[in-house]
Amino acid sequence: MPELPEVEIATRNLRSWLAGERLTRVELPSSRVLRGVAPEALSKLLAGKRVETLERRGKWIRLALSGGAVLHSHLGMTGKWVLRDRSDGPQKYERARFDTRRRSVRYLDPRLFGRLLASPHGEPLAAWDALGPDPLVDGIDARVLGATLARTRRSIKEALMDQSVLAGVGNIQAAEALWRARIHPQLAADRLARDPAAVRSLARAILASIEFTLRDEAGPEITYVEEPGARNPFKVYGRAGEPCPRCSASLKRIVQGGRSTVFCARCQRRSALTSGGGCATRRRT
Ligand SMILES: [Zn+2]
Repeated sequence: MPELPEVEIATRNLRSWLAGERLTRVELPSSRVLRGVAPEALSKLLAGKRVETLERRGKWIRLALSGGAVLHSHLGMTGKWVLRDRSDGPQKYERARFDTRRRSVRYLDPRLFGRLLASPHGEPLAAWDALGPDPLVDGIDARVLGATLARTRRSIKEALMDQSVLAGVGNIQAAEALWRARIHPQLAADRLARDPAAVRSLARAILASIEFTLRDEAGPEITYVEEPGARNPFKVYGRAGEPCPRCSASLKRIVQGGRSTVFCARCQRRSALTSGGGCATRRRT
């Protein structure tokens, strides 16, 4: 499922394919991806426009077009932008086609949770404006992160997945970063916030995990880890029952807020965190 690194790779690819180019052919078959807009109206808005800038914030991609229109793309659960030959017909699960003089870019989305939203005059998108700091665009200020975490008693794993806390961190990156920082995923966010060294360690771990994933997955066409036959590049995500890459203990799976978290009960102990914290509950290993 696309999170910050996958969306960053998509943005870099789209930039290299479309920036400065005029859209000579736009096809938008009617689908749930185009919520609230008639496909014909959107095609008309985009056709003939030049793609001026592409940027990413969290899991959103923003394309600014000549004439002031803006297109926002969210990849949902299974969306991906790919390059095809201009002579190629519609692809399986194709939801959009943008051709330039030289290239043909397609948006594929089997499960249709993605979105393509147009702002004809560059109107702001509420979901974009509500995003918290983006780890790559803004960096992570550990003091700001600590102050944000101090305001919630949710588990640290659930807090990290809140897009207003850090934009772009999802289920995968949260689990990976907590494992890297040796923080128990069920630790209350406000309790973690009382340990500035642990928050700094978490901030470094989030960036390290994102950079690792970017390096690993960069390429013109991504395969998501959930796809059949896909390779799993992650340290703990999707690896319940396998040995921890650090200590070899069997990785555990728990469910938090309806989502799976895999973690190492030996490396990631709630009691190991705050020295003299006192009330830590040690999980059975
Ligand atoms: Zn371990």
